[in-house]
Amino acid sequence: TLAVVLFTQDLRLHDNPALHAARAGADRVVPLFVSDPAVGAAGFAAPNRAAFLAGCLADLDAGLRRAGGRLLVREGDTAEQTAKLAAETGAASVHLAAGVSDYARRREQRLRRALGDRLRVHEGSLTAVPPGAVLPAGRDHYAVFTPYHRAWQQAARRTPLPPPRGLDTPGELTGALLPAVTPTARHLPEPGEGAARRAWQRWRTEHYADLHDDLAADGTSHLSPYLHFGCLSANELVHLAERRGGHGAGAFVRQLAWRDFHHQVLAARPDAARADYRPRHDDWRADPDEFAAWCEGRTGFPIVDAGMRQLAETGWMHNRARLLTASFLAKSLYHDWRPGAAHFLHHLVDGDLANNQLNWQWVAGTGTDTRPNRVLNPLTQADRHDPDGAYVRRWVPELAHLPGREIHRPWQSRRRPADYPAPLIAPDATGRRLRAARIDQDPLP
Ligand code: FAD
Repeated sequence: TLAVVLFTQDLRLHDNPALHAARAGADRVVPLFVSDPAVGAAGFAAPNRAAFLAGCLADLDAGLRRAGGRLLVREGDTAEQTAKLAAETGAASVHLAAGVSDYARRREQRLRRALGDRLRVHEGSLTAVPPGAVLPAGRDHYAVFTPYHRAWQQAARRTPLPPPRGLDTPGELTGALLPAVTPTARHLPEPGEGAARRAWQRWRTEHYADLHDDLAADGTSHLSPYLHFGCLSANELVHLAERRGGHGAGAFVRQLAWRDFHHQVLAARPDAARADYRPRHDDWRADPDEFAAWCEGRTGFPIVDAGMRQLAETGWMHNRARLLTASFLAKSLYHDWRPGAAHFLHHLVDGDLANNQLNWQWVAGTGTDTRPNRVLNPLTQADRHDPDGAYVRRWVPELAHLPGREIHRPWQSRRRPADYPAPLIAPDATGRRLRAARIDQDPLP
């Protein structure tokens, strides 16, 4: 018998439930990836991710070849292409990882219509704990992280699956992989499962708890692109981190629970990728010049500009910078979170519907934050998370000569260069527009 595995966001051999089940139930396996124009039409095939994806597929193909298989890449509608290949090869089953987005849900329905009960959908591939595996009484998802995290820690977890062998993909099936794409970022991480596993091996967990909010130390794992494309299994990563142990590994596992949390929200409320999860604001300001200044890192607030330039140059941004740049747009400038989220998605190599849209909503106060009116004051954030200005010095080189914390307040400095902009709004007014929208405000953190 022959089984098709349709790869989506699970581009790996290790701990891959769909691939494992296909191999266990058939003598021959045909691994398939469909490059679907619908993904591009939805604005999701941005150059940085497309470039990274092409590399991940090449690496997946190499891994599959070592296991006696090879990757077939087809272009077109996913359901049509999959059904066509299943018919051509006489496949008895088609295996797929369950997704959480609206798009993934529709894709699954169409595959079900085309393939009937030959379609096998596998839970627990994208997250460590599948959406819906833990639930509060009487509800279809957790809306608050802390109780979710408590339940998540108690949830049963699968023992990671070994990579398969003997895939025996029929030799007559051939085709090219995706062509290389030129990214907009100067440097992207090395793509693929092998690079992901090396990155995990290299990364030291022990300082994570102390350093993860320190912008200049850059002490986080940088594993997010690999998790987004599934080059690493979140489930396996939890196992590996727990085996390492220690305070840092524990803090790291908690972040993986945040990832699962957002996935279970999106799985239950796929419209939250676009619509406010908790509608609160309908009077956002629209100012194209302000928005362009934010996108281009010209707000005159060095810590905000540093984050936005790191994003443009590398396709990645430190979590603390994501928080404070997003808060600056949504809370200080009082702009709708959606254009901000779209700008992030255009650049981020790890750009992920669940993590990006729901973190944006968290920051904008329309999501799952239990203190939706908090405003991250960029100056307080700068003093706390970049105390000697090293992060700003790295990304805003025209200010590099300003010593110490002077770099965070160039408008007060006689040494401010002429080509660095004045602050877009009064520095002491970063929470004022939100207050002007007559929303009761929590104290500044
Ligand atoms: P580490 O600190 O090493 O964390 C390990 C992993 O945990 C990450 O790779 C990620 O998968 C997960 N994680 C960490 N923090 C979060 C979080 N707050 N929410 C969900 N998962 C988390 N992450 C994305 O993967 N894709 C996105 O598109 C994305 N957009 C974001 C937008 C905003 C406005 C904010 C505030 C955060 C966003 N995040 C996003 C979450 C977080 O910033 C990144 O996951 C993290 O910075 C990636 O770096 P790392 O791998 O070194 O993280």
